Amino acid sequence: MLGLMQNQPLLISSLIEFAERHHGDAEIVSRRVEGDLHRYTYKEAGRRSRQVANALDALKLNFGDRVATLAWNGYRHFELYYGVSGSGRVLHTINPRLHPDQIAWIANHAEDQVLCFDLSFLPLVQAVHGKCSSIKHYIALCDADKLPADSGIPNLQSYESWIGAQSDSYVWPSFDENTASGMCYTSGTTGNPKAALYSHRSSTLHAYAAALPDVMCMSARDAILPVVPMFHVNAWGIPYSAALTGAKLVFPGPALDGKSIYELLEAEKVTYAAGVPTVWQMLLSHMKPGGLRFSTLRRTVIGGSACPPAMIKAFNDDYGVEVLHAWGMTEMSPLGTLCTLKNKHDALPAEEKMKIRLKQGRAIYGVDMKIVDEAGKELPWDGKTFGDLHVKGPWIVREYYKGEGGSPLVDGWFPTGDVATIDADGYMQVTDRSKDVIKSGGEWISSIEIENIAVAHPAVAMAACIGVPHPKWDERPIIAVVKKPGMEVTRDELIKFYEGKTAKWQIPDDVVFVDAIPLGATGKMLKTRLRELLKDYKLPQL
Ligand code: AMP
Repeated sequence: MLGLMQNQPLLISSLIEFAERHHGDAEIVSRRVEGDLHRYTYKEAGRRSRQVANALDALKLNFGDRVATLAWNGYRHFELYYGVSGSGRVLHTINPRLHPDQIAWIANHAEDQVLCFDLSFLPLVQAVHGKCSSIKHYIALCDADKLPADSGIPNLQSYESWIGAQSDSYVWPSFDENTASGMCYTSGTTGNPKAALYSHRSSTLHAYAAALPDVMCMSARDAILPVVPMFHVNAWGIPYSAALTGAKLVFPGPALDGKSIYELLEAEKVTYAAGVPTVWQMLLSHMKPGGLRFSTLRRTVIGGSACPPAMIKAFNDDYGVEVLHAWGMTEMSPLGTLCTLKNKHDALPAEEKMKIRLKQGRAIYGVDMKIVDEAGKELPWDGKTFGDLHVKGPWIVREYYKGEGGSPLVDGWFPTGDVATIDADGYMQVTDRSKDVIKSGGEWISSIEIENIAVAHPAVAMAACIGVPHPKWDERPIIAVVKKPGMEVTRDELIKFYEGKTAKWQIPDDVVFVDAIPLGATGKMLKTRLRELLKDYKLPQL
């Protein structure tokens, strides 16, 4: 017997329709590429998203055609999120930090028909458009009078004249909720990038789950500033969850430095922000010297790479801001786990609570996870045993776009490429990417743990731990360190700093001071590149 409830597909258009109807006066504030602040409401965003849908119809785009963006977090990008997916096309957000050849490769692979870009990326578009054979229309996200003359880009129009010519009356179509809504290519540190192809169903379910109290805890009372870019895994789904809850949205545009973010947090009374650790490092470095305080910020979600304990401590102890450590990946839309404490942890001493907060957290309903050994056998949840982390759920990839790389699943589970422990309460802790694991004398050393200790030293800005070959132990850890400007620390001081903080045999054998640690397009440390740079390095005792 079937249930007798209304059968309404979960579609992305329903989120903006809801926000427009029930939170029509909630604000969306954006710092524009021009530098000024733009402000309007969900009502206006909904109206303009419908104009986008009509403008795509006018270009004679088919259902399922890909529309690409190279854009910062801002109101026009937000309208494309809804206008493109809501009308049945697929939003392809491209990471502008990728190499131009990789961008051209991705655009061709996705067979993008339209490319919408912020003017900051004009030189990039000028460099790649000749190689992007499928793109027929270029839209600059600007007013008509800002459209660059003689850009050399064919069929270029300004976004405002493109949508301005269209009616705002449009009925969002209804279709199968499993239809593709968006795509995002993985950073592709090995081989060509592969695309996760999200569906309306997966994105809507993810938006519901992300808003839950033990996840990102979003409400109509919040003003949310996603520093995490809309070009990388849909800004962790915040543009969708914010519409679902009616929260005020504050978009930082291209200004991601500490001063600009601080000013925006304060001016717009932001209660809640989300981003990767490097962005928060810049914010804290800006605030400390002048003794600046937050007047409204209460929570911040930090993920994308491991959040160092020093950062959780600084936010919590110095500024009264709760840090929620999050873990996920492009293939997971992206959220998998979030770290919030349970009632039973209330009575624990601060140090014990910190140990839990450092973990990547508990699975969100919708995501199941397990750790397995090399033979695929499930490992115990004891908080100590390391294993390959596998996940499954309705917002996790089943296959990559165009079947690239074959079926990624193992017995129905997606292998994340992360190595982790899970404790008896279900808190997962990532110890490494599987390709970065350090094995010394048959035992694993967590490079994340070794890095966290180094960055707790006051003179250390950034640290990356890698394994180097050793005749007796197979591998030994060394740590590459970037010093903070004007600060000094010696190799021996740093090695001594490890004493008592980790087991003796896990202390790095050496410290290599470097000017910078190579970062990938999504801001993560590129250890493959670091290993290449240090290929002639020899351990001092050998
Ligand atoms: P991406 O698909 O580019 O977002 O990268 C996903 C990868 O980032 C994961 O598989 C992890 O290796 C890493 N990652 C994400 N969040 C965290 C976190 N909180 N701690 C440690 N690593 C993380």
